[in-house]
Amino acid sequence: MSERRFESLLAALPDTDAFFQGGTDELPDVMAEWFPGREPSIVADENTWLAAGEKVHDAFVAAGARVATPFRFPGTKVLEPEYRHVETLRNAWRSNDTIPVAVGAGTINDLVKRAAFESSRPYVVVATAASMDGITSFGAALVRNGLKQTMSCPAPRMVLADVSVIKNAPPAMTAAGYADLASELTAGADWLLADAAGAEPIHEKSWAMIQPHLEQWLTTPGRLAAGDETAYRELFDGLCMNGFAMQCMQSSRPASGAEHLFSHVWEMEHLQREGMPVSHGFKVAIGTLIATAVYEEVLGAGVTRFDPEQAVRHREPWEARAERVKAAYRGSPLIEPILAICAEKYGSDAALRARVERINEAWPVLCERLSGQIVPFRALRSLFIEAGVPVEPGQISLDLRRVRDTFNRAHMIRTRYTVLDFLYDTGLFEPVADAVCSPGAYFSE
Ligand SMILES: [Zn+2]
Repeated sequence: MSERRFESLLAALPDTDAFFQGGTDELPDVMAEWFPGREPSIVADENTWLAAGEKVHDAFVAAGARVATPFRFPGTKVLEPEYRHVETLRNAWRSNDTIPVAVGAGTINDLVKRAAFESSRPYVVVATAASMDGITSFGAALVRNGLKQTMSCPAPRMVLADVSVIKNAPPAMTAAGYADLASELTAGADWLLADAAGAEPIHEKSWAMIQPHLEQWLTTPGRLAAGDETAYRELFDGLCMNGFAMQCMQSSRPASGAEHLFSHVWEMEHLQREGMPVSHGFKVAIGTLIATAVYEEVLGAGVTRFDPEQAVRHREPWEARAERVKAAYRGSPLIEPILAICAEKYGSDAALRARVERINEAWPVLCERLSGQIVPFRALRSLFIEAGVPVEPGQISLDLRRVRDTFNRAHMIRTRYTVLDFLYDTGLFEPVADAVCSPGAYFSE
């Protein structure tokens, strides 16, 4: 029988009301109770149709329920999260009041999330893999007019997780989910830094949903390879919890720091391996290892104080900074918004001085908290290997020169304060980036 979980937690969230763990064949009963008289409209691609879509559809038919003709996007090539698919779904739902049922975890969920919002109705997701943390987050990552953007829309009203389906997803998808969850280690460290610098305070409730449980979720990835259902349940719970934390503060801060900035840059560059886009989780994996290496460099240097006056004196003038930004994004249609972001981050000398002073004040305690937050590089690398996650840039078609270049580009694309801003504020950006990218230091190629 389906188990209803996280009830008290979900009662306090804006979007998601119910989380069921059980068989997909129980969905008709659950939906009849939650959405009486509403017909389901199943959306899948060919892969997720085989994984669970057909089973869900047959369950409705067997229950004698009316069910709209399912949408099946092609699955032979990777389904791109293009906005035109949202329009297709919205048009199909214009003259009915069906409840969309997204069968999938990534692209299908994002398309349905936005299309349901534009069609003024809630939707349900049946997860087919523990591959990323966007399942329960608000907002959908979609490509519109050639640009990838997060379009705002509520998270699913109801989530159904069938562990027997999730367990049978391709191992690389599970590994990607593991890496996306592990990224909370460095995302959390960045948040501690941002809090100390006065840039963004810790949101205690969101923090408590993820950070105290991370170790348990991440400790033994070998259990996933061994097919241990509890391990899959914990991984999926962890990823959903990330989404809930993001819902809770209406921001991706709890789940995204510098490691995600690296991944966003490679996404904008359409990073591919063997003709296929590299998964979000695998890009985040290398980003997480890079950010971990950065923290090791910073914490290992034994610095006890940063000089605010020197920080101001040594910072490049804005004109030089702007030139650097233009050079890094030459020819990109995003140059103007990126310049605006960098101008905002550059701010005044007084603001820089104040940030460095605040960091100095917090530094002794902060150092200890950061050391406890980060899993040491070698240990994290071992966990990743055990989980089937890439640990070398070469495994996702990158080399160290490109990683070094990404340090600059990643630092420019968001106003969110991360360890990259800390490096820039304290004059450590270039030496630390060079040290991390030195062949053999952390990565071999
Ligand atoms: Zn992510």
